Parts: sequence; C-alpha cells; structure tokens
Amino acid sequence: MTKTITDVICPFCGTLCDDIEVIVSDDGKKLLEVNNACVIGTEKFLHSQSSDRITRPRMHQEDGSWKEISYDEAVEYTAQMLAKARKPLLFGWSSTNCEAQSVGNEIAEMSRACCDNTAATCHGTSLIAIQDVGLPSCTLGEIKNRADRIIFWGCNPAHAHPRHMSRYSIFPRGFFTGKGQMSRKLIVVDPRVTDTAKMADMHLQVEQGKDYELLDALRVAFKGEWLPDVVAGIPGEKIREAADVMKSGRFGIIFFGMGVTQTLGKNHNIDAAIAVTKDLNEYTKFSIMPMRGHYNVTGSGEVFAWQFGFPYAVDLTRGFARYNPGDTSTIDLLTRGEIDAMLTIGSDPGAHFPISAVKPIAKMPSVCIDPHLTPTSGVSKLHVPVAFNGVETGGNCYRMDNVPIDCRKVVEPPEGMLTDEEFLIKVRDRLKQLKEAA
Ligand code: SF4
Repeated sequence: MTKTITDVICPFCGTLCDDIEVIVSDDGKKLLEVNNACVIGTEKFLHSQSSDRITRPRMHQEDGSWKEISYDEAVEYTAQMLAKARKPLLFGWSSTNCEAQSVGNEIAEMSRACCDNTAATCHGTSLIAIQDVGLPSCTLGEIKNRADRIIFWGCNPAHAHPRHMSRYSIFPRGFFTGKGQMSRKLIVVDPRVTDTAKMADMHLQVEQGKDYELLDALRVAFKGEWLPDVVAGIPGEKIREAADVMKSGRFGIIFFGMGVTQTLGKNHNIDAAIAVTKDLNEYTKFSIMPMRGHYNVTGSGEVFAWQFGFPYAVDLTRGFARYNPGDTSTIDLLTRGEIDAMLTIGSDPGAHFPISAVKPIAKMPSVCIDPHLTPTSGVSKLHVPVAFNGVETGGNCYRMDNVPIDCRKVVEPPEGMLTDEEFLIKVRDRLKQLKEAA
C-alpha cells in the first residue's frame, strides 16, 4: 500500500514549485516516486533515499580518516568551538528553513560572530542596489496572469530554474495572458547562445561585461534620442527595436541573474536595470526581479533583516550589527585570515569559493552541517548530517518573489537523525551554559 501526498514544495531552487506530488510507503518511511518536479527537483527528493547516506556525525582524524561520534559529542564540539573562537564565521543558510536560520542568528549573537549567506556570491550586489534605489517588483502570480513582455538578463532558467518558464513566465495561460506563450514576447540578454536565448523572440548578444552600457543605451532609446551605431556589441537599430518592444507591452518584467550581478559593474548594473524599469513605467507597467538560486536564500535575507537590520555580510564582533560588504563578507574575511572558526550550513563554499578562501577552512576548527557529502564537509573537522529540509522536515521558506511558503514533510528521516533546527537549538543551549559559566 502507498500514500500520495499532493501540493508538496520542491526544496531546490528559488522557484519553490508547490505542485509536486510524492508517493510514499504506507508507514511514511520510504519515498517511492516524485511527480511534476523537474529532473533536478526529483533528484533532490530521491537523494534522501540513497543507501550510502551518512546518518551520524563524523570527526576528521589526524590520519585523514573519519570517526563516527554521537550528536551529543557533535553539539559539544560545536559549542566549545564557538565559545573559544575570537572571530567565528557562520556561513550559508540558503538551503535550510527560516526557523533554523533564526536559531542560527541567536547563536551568532551569543558568540559575537560574523554571519553571512550565499548572497555574498550571487545577489548580494542586487541587495546593495535595492538599498540604494528601491525595487519596483511584483509576484510570480502577477507575471503568470499579466506579463506580456519577459526579459531574461544574464540568466538561463532553461537550466537553472527549469520550471520557471512553464509555471510563471512563458508558457502558462493566465487571466490576461490566455494564449500562453503566444501572448508574450521574450527578450534574452546574454553573451552566450543559451537554451533560453534559443527560445527568444529577440536575443541581444551583449559583449561580455558591457551590461551597464547596454542598459544606459536602452534608456536613451526609450526617449528616441541619438545612439551610436553599435553599443556593447549590439547595433543601435536592434537596441531601438528592443526598446519599442518593451514600451509597447501592457505589463513587463526584467528577470536578472548572476550574469549581470557578478560581472563588471556589479551593483551598478542593477542600479541601471532598476532605472530602466523606472523609465519604462512612464510608458507602461514594468517590474524587475532577481532570479534567486538556492530555495531559501531569499528567506535568509529576510531573517537576517528582521533580526539584524541587514540582509547579509553581518559582523557582530563588537556586540552590535555592522554591515560593510567587501569588508564583512565571507570571502574577504577568509582570504584576509581574520576568521578562527567556521560553521557552514545549507551551502557548499568548498565547491564554489576560490581556493584561497577554502584553504583556511581546512586549517581552522570547522563544522559543516549538511545531509550531503560535499567538498565543504570533506575539508571540515566535523561533519554533521541532518534531515533533508522540505523532504524529512517542514518549515518556512521564501520564494524568489518574497512570498513565504511552508514546506511539507513527506517522509520520516532515518531513525535518530536531527533536523538543522534541532541540532542548532542544542548548540545554542549548550553555548549559553558555557557563556554563563565563563
Ligand atoms: S524548477 Fe526549481 S523548484 Fe521547481 S521543481 Fe525544478 S528545481 Fe524544484
């Protein structure tokens, strides 16, 4: 006998699809089948069932081997590490729920740590731009029902957010977009001919690193003023044509990704993209939205902002929150050698940071909380496996359009295994005891 669970949330990317169907065994212990999710979402669910899964914490030994320890011993190591550290760093948070993030922030405050999330290497620049000039945005539901002009700038949802286009932005038939794809015009701005670009009505193949110039040229074209023959590798005529397509829509949206947030210009590119959106609102209705990657990176920014007033790169070492990206952000802290203990959760800096920032992690006391074996768990002193959030435990998450959605637990975790939140609560309580006794 089996049970079918409907309206399940996919805990992989920032699209947070909420129409997944999961079939589990009658006792709720085995996940048998996943329907409706894309291939990467399906893998996320099925990975929880792999037979070689690590189910207990492990300490790295001097000879490179691992020794299994109990959760209580792992809690003790983590709390002692944070109590003794002069400047610990708590990094990640984007692949766990808001409840765990909130407990993590309490720990950061108690241990006077630096705390940061994965926005440090993706949309942190967008957050800086939003603080500078605001964000005229909307929800993905409004895109589905109203948007007839879709711009993907520096992002490739065909690979990174596979169901974004079928659920919200291109194919669905919405209230005022009854002909689905036929109701919309798609413009892709990307130096590469990506699979998303191949579907576009117009592909602006911008020269690498020239996004700012192209955004400025669009602002000129909106006003019908003089443009050079070529800007950022695009003929002036084509820029004018794209400007006319944008202005002539009823409701448009610019989705932007790391191709524009992490290339030359960084936050200034986003300032310019927001200015383009503002200009377009003189002719029609236009919005702009970052394509967030990890399924709850948006939630981490929200929880940081509730608790500290800043969305990432927070330094609590002086007993109050300071925020100075480029100084208080993770890669800068690690490469300057300022950090003397590190706790990583819900992310994999070992796979994504420059080697000069990964090497220090391998040398200092470090804890990696992650259900997977990752390059970060491989270099950390202690690896704490936990239940898969969104599969083996529920909790609140934020979709890329800042809509909070409650994830659902669909299957039991392996016996005795803790969730992120449960492990962090134990660390927080033990750290409190150590601080009071000091
Ligand atoms: S698009 Fe993203 S949220 Fe939706 S099923 Fe695929 S990985 Fe999951």
